[in-house]
Amino acid sequence: MRFPDRTSSTKIRLKMNTTIVKAYGVEELGERVKELTVSRREVTAKDIEIEILFCGVCHSDMHHVHGDWGKEKYPLVPGHEIVGRVTKVGKEVTKLAVGDLAGVGCLVDSCQTCDSCKKDLEQYCLNGSTVTYGGKDKHSGEHTFGGYSEKVVVDEHFVLKIPANLNLAAVAPLLCAGITTWSPLRHWKVGPNSKVAVIGLGGLGHMAIKLAKGLGAEVTLFSRSPNKEQDAFDLGADAVIISTDESQMNSVSSKFDLIIDTVPYIHDVNPYVSTLSIDGTLVLVGYLGGLDPILNTVPMIMGRKSVAGSLIGGLAETQEMLDFCGEHNIVSEIEMIEMQDINEAYQRMLKSDVKYRFVIDIASLKK
Ligand SMILES: [Zn+2]
Ligand SMILES: [Zn+2]
Repeated sequence: MRFPDRTSSTKIRLKMNTTIVKAYGVEELGERVKELTVSRREVTAKDIEIEILFCGVCHSDMHHVHGDWGKEKYPLVPGHEIVGRVTKVGKEVTKLAVGDLAGVGCLVDSCQTCDSCKKDLEQYCLNGSTVTYGGKDKHSGEHTFGGYSEKVVVDEHFVLKIPANLNLAAVAPLLCAGITTWSPLRHWKVGPNSKVAVIGLGGLGHMAIKLAKGLGAEVTLFSRSPNKEQDAFDLGADAVIISTDESQMNSVSSKFDLIIDTVPYIHDVNPYVSTLSIDGTLVLVGYLGGLDPILNTVPMIMGRKSVAGSLIGGLAETQEMLDFCGEHNIVSEIEMIEMQDINEAYQRMLKSDVKYRFVIDIASLKK
């Protein structure tokens, strides 16, 4: 998931001891991702140190490396779909113990006192949450480094418990792709009587299908190409509608309670709004920016329909999603790569040549 550029208003600069760890990243714009070292803070009373075992590769990693979203802080170490094992805990930590499995998603800190944080909506922290990489570490004053790395040190509030029954590598993408689609499913109260549609079948879209099915909904994929049909059915979709086929689009007019739009680039949402039921909502989770063509309010007003947006999820909701995935045996579909393969992986992602998420085996970093 991409985040708007925000800077934390909390500026606590403390002199801290740090540990040097091996990582992969870039030291300036235009570089290929390569081996480098970064520092991690020593664990404070509420911190957990995690030996990273696997890290998912989100599209936003590639966009940050390529400088697609403006100015970056260097060195840049991507990765916000992190799973691993606890190696050290601070003296006040109660959530996890040394040896436990642990996960870290897109956030590593927030003010924890504002109205959003008090409602477990840390992703919407009014004082600016701290993102896992390229954010500002409130403890050290340095910027944050992501999961393409041996270790990470995170406040226990931002560390997730991982169900032991799941394939650990395939859990990693749940920390961004999973929660990004889970949060709107829960906010709009999707359940067994819901009709849900998903636009786009990538990292986010494939998780949206699995999670909506897990909640008991009837799930339809909107796709521009018929060749995604079998893949969608294999993931659990009940139907596929080819969005460029007018008669197919007409056949689902006023049908869906919730549409999760995962398309990451500018696109026309108007044909999809027409497929919403009365009081239905289309929620954008993959694209930030203006819409073109502009949004036509006629079908919205004539049917009290909404077009909304949603950003990842809070920590409590992320834990709820992980627990749900544990109970329902839901994980991401992944292709494992070695750390050294990351630049080639980005090239393949540009061509949508991945089903559906690359996950880095961090053991390869130690080679
Ligand atoms: Zn992401
Ligand atoms: Zn806050």
